[in-house]
Amino acid sequence: MQETLTSIVAEIFAEDDWGQTAQYIPELASIDPKQFAISVCTADGRQFNAGSTDKRFSIQSISKVFALVAALGRVGDQLWTRVSREPSGTSFDSVVLLEQEKGHPRNPFVNAGAIVTTDALLSGREPKLALAEVLGLIRQMSDCDDIYINDVVAASEQKTGSRNKALAYYLQSHGNLHNAPDLTLGTYFHQCAIEMTTAQLAMAGRSLAGLASAPRVISLQHARRVNALMMTCGHYDGSGDFAFRVGLPGKSGVGGGILIVAPKVASIGIWSPGLNHYGNSHAGTRAATMLSKATNWSVF
Ligand code: GLU
Repeated sequence: MQETLTSIVAEIFAEDDWGQTAQYIPELASIDPKQFAISVCTADGRQFNAGSTDKRFSIQSISKVFALVAALGRVGDQLWTRVSREPSGTSFDSVVLLEQEKGHPRNPFVNAGAIVTTDALLSGREPKLALAEVLGLIRQMSDCDDIYINDVVAASEQKTGSRNKALAYYLQSHGNLHNAPDLTLGTYFHQCAIEMTTAQLAMAGRSLAGLASAPRVISLQHARRVNALMMTCGHYDGSGDFAFRVGLPGKSGVGGGILIVAPKVASIGIWSPGLNHYGNSHAGTRAATMLSKATNWSVF
């Protein structure tokens, strides 16, 4: 495994195209795209690392996986009365389907669905308590307390996040936002601004992969359902392509991270901040494809 990861790093650095960092969040736009890290936790309890695996990056939409786990724990199946479970075929911040489907988001991983999920986590308490639950869950899942929110990144997105504001107000107009838009959005932006390393991310994915070394924070049924959604919706309108290339459930973020789950076999964290045209990590997707090919871990 270590040899495989080392050769993936070499192959990634041999290519010139690194994609482009997320331009709509100023704090992320200025990051050097030519960076890469990959970490793998295997079923026998070992971890393998290659590249900048100690470097913290903004997990952005990967946080939607942890918020979903927390929301399912808090409100259970009630969440599905507010959010569907279908791939969107549209970009992560699209408003088109939300209008057609009367404020009922397609899935919990597009922004509109994630805003509803965070709203469900927020009801009846202060934003800092909802955030403490998500952060606490991530720390528990990764066996590591050294994970924090970057307030500068959250503020940066708050300043430029007009699309997410539009989505929140649109949800509110359909009665599908139960808290003040500013409060839900503030919580959502801070949740997205959590920073992790790939080493921590791979550790956090062990519960979803059902590895024996993982803390028991999620039921088998919830893990299966979250993995199914990661497979069908985790890469937005690039989800089909990711399933085609990699064949494993994965969730990307515009910070360039990808969390990948090989059920019962491994949990994988990858990071490279340059994005492809879907808003998913360019080099990260290439690396996931190489790893899947080298290991035969595809679920298909
Ligand atoms: N915070 C980002 C947004 O709402 C997350 C999007 C992503 O990572 O795909 O635009």
